[in-house]
Amino acid sequence: MERKNRTQGILALLLFLFCGEVHGQSIPAPTQDSTHTAFVRAIYSEALSAKQGHQWLSDLCATVGPRLACSPGDAAAVKWAKQTLDTLGFDTVYTQTVTGNTHWIRGDAWARAHSGGKKISLSIAALGGSESTPGGDKGKGLRAQVVEVLSFQELDDLAAAGKIKGKIVFYNRPMDPTYINTGSAYGRAVDQRWAGAMEASKHGAVAVLVRSMTLSLDDFPHTGVMSYGEEKNKIPAAGISTLDAEALHTLLAKDPTTEVSLLLGAHTVGTCTSYNVIAEWRGSDKLEEIVVAGGHLDSWDLGTGAQDDGAGSVQSMHALYLLKKLGYQPHRTHRVVLFANEEFGLVGGMHYAANALEKKEKHALAIESDGGSGSPRGFSFENEVARSALQKFQPYVAPYGLLSFSVGGSGADVGQLAGQGAFLAGLSVDTQRYFDYHHTAQDRIESIHPRELELGAAAMSALLYLFDAHSPIPSAP
Ligand SMILES: [Zn+2]
Repeated sequence: MERKNRTQGILALLLFLFCGEVHGQSIPAPTQDSTHTAFVRAIYSEALSAKQGHQWLSDLCATVGPRLACSPGDAAAVKWAKQTLDTLGFDTVYTQTVTGNTHWIRGDAWARAHSGGKKISLSIAALGGSESTPGGDKGKGLRAQVVEVLSFQELDDLAAAGKIKGKIVFYNRPMDPTYINTGSAYGRAVDQRWAGAMEASKHGAVAVLVRSMTLSLDDFPHTGVMSYGEEKNKIPAAGISTLDAEALHTLLAKDPTTEVSLLLGAHTVGTCTSYNVIAEWRGSDKLEEIVVAGGHLDSWDLGTGAQDDGAGSVQSMHALYLLKKLGYQPHRTHRVVLFANEEFGLVGGMHYAANALEKKEKHALAIESDGGSGSPRGFSFENEVARSALQKFQPYVAPYGLLSFSVGGSGADVGQLAGQGAFLAGLSVDTQRYFDYHHTAQDRIESIHPRELELGAAAMSALLYLFDAHSPIPSAP
């Protein structure tokens, strides 16, 4: 999906990640309904002993692996999800056609710095949506001097001084380590990735390198979607590992004539059709009201998408399955929704929301997990109306460490339902390690802590249960 300018769209990429600092506090337990207290305990006991979510995620990563929209893995993931959901005893499992997905091919990628008569190889990865260097995989790439900038303002100033034309622009503003919520730090650095090529091309640059979006100093380049907006001059764009960003910075400080040679084979070949995968469990007396638990099934292609968002996908499946396994009969109709193609423009989420509107479906609550499998901390809500309506359940889940009920966005996919009357929520987790893995070759099953994964599913399940079992929602538990 293309966007018009440097800032538009970044919010949409990052809905939950912009959520504020964790500020939930333990509050004295009010009188609680012992049935609900016991059921929440049963959810946690079942989740932590059966370890079903980790089995599913291991299987998804091993048998399907990377699943970027339009890739063979994308189709395999849809098949895997449908087959797995079919075994869980819900009423129906079906797919929803999602058209207009960008079919992007990564191709080869390499870069070398040339400085003081030496060649130094750099760890890079094409950014999603980037075009190739001249001639693509079969070409010779390009070579140019490098100009380091920390902001678009600095870029504009250097361009006004005639210093950008014909150069490779190197965006090297790090994520700010002082944020406690690393998503907030990500949100304030990712404009370089999203709009870096768009802005540099306006000034005649020939390519961009973007410091990877992580607080870790390592050798893994991070990919992620970028946009050319309305720019016709589509210059190639690559992420560079933080260690090599530091190395390039040092070279440029010593020798401002340092050049980089770069080859990217990346290109877009058209669009394809993918599918949202949906399992539906019909309610009893309020079946026209819909409750959703969701994550996105697609992933970037460098790793196997265990954290982003295999974790959220299996947690959503598990959240409903736990209720079913414990013999709960919901009042409302519940769905697991595994969204197609979040990474390349929220296409599955937008299709789901448009379809709901068209069919005049009434969504009561939708919760997404798309922040990795860190230890759960609570829930982030789309707005104050949702937070204050569900805050009353906090005493039931506080003993499980879910202290934060905050306003700060829900999830990128369920957020598309905004304006349709549903309470929208996202699972809030500890984010300290998430950007070590996010969009890299490191995003693999080995990065998942099984207990933390199951705790996330239990947290979602508990909120779904409390919401549905309190019917109508009482003013206090
Ligand atoms: Zn994600």
